[in-house]
Amino acid sequence: MKKEKGLKNRKYVIVGNSIAGVSCIEGIREIDSDGEIYVFSDEEYFNYSRPLISYYLEGRLKENQLNFKEIDFYKKNRINLFLKTKCEKIDLDRKILYTTSGNFEFNYIFLGTGGKPILPKIEGIENTEKGTFTFTKLNDAKKLKKYFEEKEIKKVVILGGGLIGLKCAEGFLGKGISLTVIELSDKILPNTFDSLASEIIENKLKENNCEIIKENTIEKIISKNGILKEIVLKDGKKISLDVLVIAIGVFPNTDLIEGTKVEKNKGIIVDEYMRTNFPFVFAGGDVAETYEFEGIKTVIPIWPRASKQGKIAGINMAGGDKKYEGMFIMNSVDFIGISTISFGITNPKNEKDYEILKKVDYEKRIYRKIVIKENRIVGAIFLGDIERAGIICGLIRNKVDIHLIKKFLIDDKFGLLILPESYRKHIVKGEGIEV
Ligand SMILES: Cc1cc2nc3c(=O)[nH]c(=O)nc-3n(C[C@H](O)[C@H](O)[C@H](O)COP(=O)(O)OP(=O)(O)OC[C@H]3O[C@@H](n4cnc5c(N)ncnc54)[C@H](O)[C@@H]3O)c2cc1C
Repeated sequence: MKKEKGLKNRKYVIVGNSIAGVSCIEGIREIDSDGEIYVFSDEEYFNYSRPLISYYLEGRLKENQLNFKEIDFYKKNRINLFLKTKCEKIDLDRKILYTTSGNFEFNYIFLGTGGKPILPKIEGIENTEKGTFTFTKLNDAKKLKKYFEEKEIKKVVILGGGLIGLKCAEGFLGKGISLTVIELSDKILPNTFDSLASEIIENKLKENNCEIIKENTIEKIISKNGILKEIVLKDGKKISLDVLVIAIGVFPNTDLIEGTKVEKNKGIIVDEYMRTNFPFVFAGGDVAETYEFEGIKTVIPIWPRASKQGKIAGINMAGGDKKYEGMFIMNSVDFIGISTISFGITNPKNEKDYEILKKVDYEKRIYRKIVIKENRIVGAIFLGDIERAGIICGLIRNKVDIHLIKKFLIDDKFGLLILPESYRKHIVKGEGIEV
């Protein structure tokens, strides 16, 4: 890929130094080795992997094991990095970014500002100064850790049984406390799993002394002198507690474009080049709304999407020409020692319109589910044994007609050799297993 002619010495600013921002640096440097790059983060860390903060809370990983890029990454890429710097305003007419470390002119700007925790309106939440936490940043995990060291914590409640809530719960297991997760839906991980997969994870959590309360939520928080004391649930049940973690999800952090003409819906709207309605403003990751697989326009707050989108934005900002082709709604997470991958339609509403293949081994906690429509796979869940998930993902992405191999799909021996030769070649070349 070549840099556009006549655009030497570009000045790029990148807001956000997490996976989208860092991938944007890589995208720019793939094409433009000379341009000046300024990166801003309101956090104080070089970089860290957000999905690992529960392992930090648990004590399994130390702070210096959370980086996803070496510290010298910034030096090698000649980055002007501004940590603990909040970007406050963009002047789109003059192309100036206003930050707490000064004002910066730019030719191109990338917004990788990620998501913000959703805070529900609960009676009494505003009176709780101590004991209530969110869980999306390393500083959240640090604050929780410190609270544990300073106070005698006996009871923790997590509001939210989705990805972030359960990762947080994992961080508390083995701490010898009483732990409860409260989930509004009738199952944990409601967005990604079906009932059976949720039940397998739920049982493992229960075996680890984690109570799960479903189809319920918190209606009232009671504090004394600002310190959290009790919660009252929708069904009237009262729970005394020392710590409440609110982990019901994130929504795109679009604060920086408020008051500008950059278009947004749920997230900042970008085209397939990750470009907003302003040709010099790009966005990607948890803040960006994009067309995903099968033309669904949405924000999917997952790490691989942020990585891919940041890179594509960087390439295009530097004058390259790369399109984002969309991802499946996908999650790849380890919970309490169980590896899981789910993608596409996992839990169709009108089951009769689909063909569903399932295989479960309760004892080994292995579960495979494949959802098929008109001889094409449209979704899958792999739990416990995820080895062949990449092949299934490739079959979905490439819309392969599977009627000849249907009966083998959830077989223990299913592998590349069962696939039609033409498709096997495609996979071996590496194109078919992209997730
Ligand atoms: C506990 C937890 C577990 C997770 N586990 C998984 C998992 O297992 N698998 C998976 O795929 N995904 C997981 N995710 C989701 C994944 O971490 C996100 O999708 C990913 O981090 C998004 O990257 P991003 O770069 O778009 O945004 P973020 O990682 O949210 O980073 C945005 C950065 O921009 C900074 N910023 C925002 N506004 C400003 C401003 N005005 N000025 C300066 N800086 C600013 C923020 O402070 C932050 O540092 C998890 C998330 C959490 C919280």
